[in-house]
Amino acid sequence: MAEQPLLLVDVDGVLNPTGRQRGDFRTYDCVTSGTLYKVRLNRTHGTWLLTLAQNTGAALIWATTWEDAANDWIGPPLGLPTLPVIPMPPSAPPARGRGFGEMFKTPYVADYVAGRPFVWFDDAVSEADEEYLRHRSDVGEFLLVQVSAERGLTRDDVDRAGAWLGDRPRERRGSG
Ligand SMILES: [Mg+2]
Repeated sequence: MAEQPLLLVDVDGVLNPTGRQRGDFRTYDCVTSGTLYKVRLNRTHGTWLLTLAQNTGAALIWATTWEDAANDWIGPPLGLPTLPVIPMPPSAPPARGRGFGEMFKTPYVADYVAGRPFVWFDDAVSEADEEYLRHRSDVGEFLLVQVSAERGLTRDDVDRAGAWLGDRPRERRGSG
């Protein structure tokens, strides 16, 4: 039986773009750990992600340094339900890994996915992360979607993920 694929979603630079946005973006005040953050969110992103998950049978997961705060401040304005969170405390990087120039999040992601197929939407994923993940024997199939931090998540990004998930050779998994 094929394992359920995961859709890992970053916040800053993906759902909260750095560039000036027109259209459906709104500014929200978020308070985490006593600090006020202003984020700009587009509810269409929530619709795209929910539809992608529904159409592909994948599970949405937060992969962001917002950690649990994403469920408090980011998900609700986007119409997203409470989602599982990959723990990634910046102050306590995991001991394993390193050496490919991967970003600090990537070993956390590798540990969390535990061999399940995944798509990862992040503005900072690079070839170094790709290389790191390919060298982890406990990591299975994956697609890194590097989102433009300035523009944020685009329809093309979502469609790439949908095509990859739709094309995965599900029947072959588990036979080899
Ligand atoms: Mg980011």
